[in-house]
Amino acid sequence: MSAAHPEPLRASASRAHEGAEAPDPLSGLAPALFMGLGSDGVYARTALYERVLERLAALIDRLRDVRAEVLRFPPVMNRRQLERSGYLKSFPNLLGCVSVLHGSEAAIRAAADRCETGGDWTASLGAADLVLTPAACYPLYPLVAGRGPLPPGGLIFDVAADCFRREPSRMLDRLQSFRMREFVRFGSPEDIVAFREGWIARARELAAELALPYAVDIANDPFFGRVGQLMAVSQLQQSLKFELLIPYHARARPTACMSFNYHREHFGQVWGIKGSGAEPAHTGCVAFGIDRLAVALFANHGLDPDQWPASARRTLAL
Ligand code: AMP
Ligand code: ZN
Repeated sequence: MSAAHPEPLRASASRAHEGAEAPDPLSGLAPALFMGLGSDGVYARTALYERVLERLAALIDRLRDVRAEVLRFPPVMNRRQLERSGYLKSFPNLLGCVSVLHGSEAAIRAAADRCETGGDWTASLGAADLVLTPAACYPLYPLVAGRGPLPPGGLIFDVAADCFRREPSRMLDRLQSFRMREFVRFGSPEDIVAFREGWIARARELAAELALPYAVDIANDPFFGRVGQLMAVSQLQQSLKFELLIPYHARARPTACMSFNYHREHFGQVWGIKGSGAEPAHTGCVAFGIDRLAVALFANHGLDPDQWPASARRTLAL
């Protein structure tokens, strides 16, 4: 994209293929919600947008299980922990790794000075022990593992993080830096299935209360490469992932605004988290893509929250 002719931000992918595009019905949305910061999918958010996002966060607080422990994570996490979780097998293309200048004062100065002279200072960067958190639940598993076996009945958490995924796009629903809120359950297979079923039902009610068109469908993660295609098929066959899909406008391809994930014993095994017996704990998570939910509300109801449908306003306590 040339800086002289910036493409407008687009609300969502249209069903029509890219070549035969009709004007985006939501093209007026972006300027009221986001301001460009020089990279696609990384935006300053306006007060109007943040007001709705905060109301959504407060709504999710009210839906939290009373037993849940609340933890908030930073936008970076330990690199080894993410490596051990298997992220590089599944999504190596999406990961952002923190890299820094290191070495002696002279080496760092020489590298930094290349920036001033138009040289490539980034060639001297080396990977730090940090990656950008790609989903809010990853830092939780090693933390829980450090606490020993699960108590009877398992555990439930409310976590959140600013997440990063390397998927630059001009679409308003595909950000590189976005916020994710999750409820994460540790327990027996029955505990996780019941948790997930309960949340799928609750999410349907929520979408209806917010006066949003929706569907819940089985889904797969965008696993990388050819091996990834097999992982996606296996995930579908085992019905491990469902999504709450909300179209932003009549012609739009629906956007996944929440996901309901059953990891089976994956994290229990990787981190040695034991259930009440000797078996590895099972885990599952319900993720709220709160940025996508906020955009969905503006896209469907318009830019003035005072004019939104009464049930949406009531649900959000607007
Ligand atoms: P996932 O772990 O892929 O199921 O992501 C959980 C939720 O985060 C999704 O259902 C989306 O609502 C949200 N999400 C994922 N990727 C993005 C993105 N690139 N931009 C904005 N929201 C996202
Ligand atoms: Zn999760």
